[in-house]
Amino acid sequence: MQDQFRHLPSVQNLLQRTSTFLDRSRLPYPWIRDEARLVLENARKEITAGHPLPEIDILTEQLRVRVASLERQLLGSVINGTGVLIHTNLGRAPIPAELLGRAASVASGYCSLEYDVESGQRGQRAPALERLISTAAGTEASLVVNNNAAAVLLALAALAKDREVIVSRGELVEIGGGFRVPDVIAQSGCRLVEVGTTNKTRLEDYRGAVTADTAVVLKIHPSNFKIQGFTEEPSRAQLRQLADENGILFLEDLGSGAFWSPPTNGADEPLVQETARHSHLVTFSGDKLLGGPQAGILTGRSEVLAQVRRHPLFRALRSDKLNLFLLQELFLYIVAGREFELPLWQMAHASVDTLRERAASWLQTLGPGLEGSLAPSQSTMGGGSLPEETLPTCALFLSSSHMGCEALSKHFRSQEIPLITRIEEDRVVLDPRSVLPEQDGMVQLYLRQGVMPC
Ligand SMILES: *Cc1c(COP(=O)(O)O)cnc(C)c1O
Repeated sequence: MQDQFRHLPSVQNLLQRTSTFLDRSRLPYPWIRDEARLVLENARKEITAGHPLPEIDILTEQLRVRVASLERQLLGSVINGTGVLIHTNLGRAPIPAELLGRAASVASGYCSLEYDVESGQRGQRAPALERLISTAAGTEASLVVNNNAAAVLLALAALAKDREVIVSRGELVEIGGGFRVPDVIAQSGCRLVEVGTTNKTRLEDYRGAVTADTAVVLKIHPSNFKIQGFTEEPSRAQLRQLADENGILFLEDLGSGAFWSPPTNGADEPLVQETARHSHLVTFSGDKLLGGPQAGILTGRSEVLAQVRRHPLFRALRSDKLNLFLLQELFLYIVAGREFELPLWQMAHASVDTLRERAASWLQTLGPGLEGSLAPSQSTMGGGSLPEETLPTCALFLSSSHMGCEALSKHFRSQEIPLITRIEEDRVVLDPRSVLPEQDGMVQLYLRQGVMPC
């Protein structure tokens, strides 16, 4: 056994034998060296357990696989074949490439972030963006922070600290990774007052809960959760009237914040322009249906926003120049009625015929070891918008005689640009609706390669 140990290569030797591959890696050298050490440590364990000395080619291949999998841990591009358009795990909405091109020239140099070029004095942060948001939403004033969770936290802290916030029991939801409405209200220093029941909350329930301590009536988009059957809730106009009668504020957390409706045959997302007419303040995300960068947007009455802006948390939650610039360009599109140029809009509106053609072009390229067929399926908007609503699509259903669907989907994830799929009825499903058309060539390349028996 000692003899076999002696025949194992050194860490340096193993690294040299793999150098043509490793030289192309962007990972720091100590990470790669640690991987080489682990490969040799495993080989020693194998030998100790009585297995023969592994071939050097096997060791170099093991190192290559380990380094490649480490590289995939870097934040990088993936191809979204899941059919979920606003996929929170995959970076939500794709930002239009044209905007990113312009953002690069602004961010790689200096910009007028807090500088009034006209007067040559220090200025407000991105005042034109705030005005653009208000123009799009039909409101008096707007404010941008890091994300929508921050927007809700800040609004409540600034407007209702140490006071009561009334919320319907049907809207006390948890959204995505741990945004629980009761917890956010508590973190803002407010007292939650629950009214109504899970399925039915009436105006009288809200009215009965108003006290001298009430600051806010809060309406919350239930995100990826839907109550069906016998339900009831007051209209926004009624809630606004109740708020005005009692000298309190009506706030709404819209979640997605749509300025256009995705083409569904059922329920629609509430549009910002319509909801903002009734509220003193609405909040929504920048990277959901808006189709832009991560941001939390607050828009509504100017005196309400002035109070929010004065709160010290605003400074801690503010957005950076790149995001502010991207949002500005995005709102220039929206105000000009050019939302149909956004990738998210185009994906949502792609016709089933177009999608079938693309899936058929994928099907034609299938390489060895892959079998496939086209079938109708359902895409979803995701991001908590339009819960239960789906968009009809035509997807490629794949299987392999060499491996099960878990292994096949892992095979696609281990490609140079990982291809993420969904699994349905024991088959790997590739939905063209969420794949950017310019990535079709890459998908075809992966399919043409086929899969080898493992
Ligand atoms: C997504 C969502 C949030 C959180 O927004 P982020 O931008 O992810 O911080 C808050 N409220 C609702 C209703 C949402 O759908």
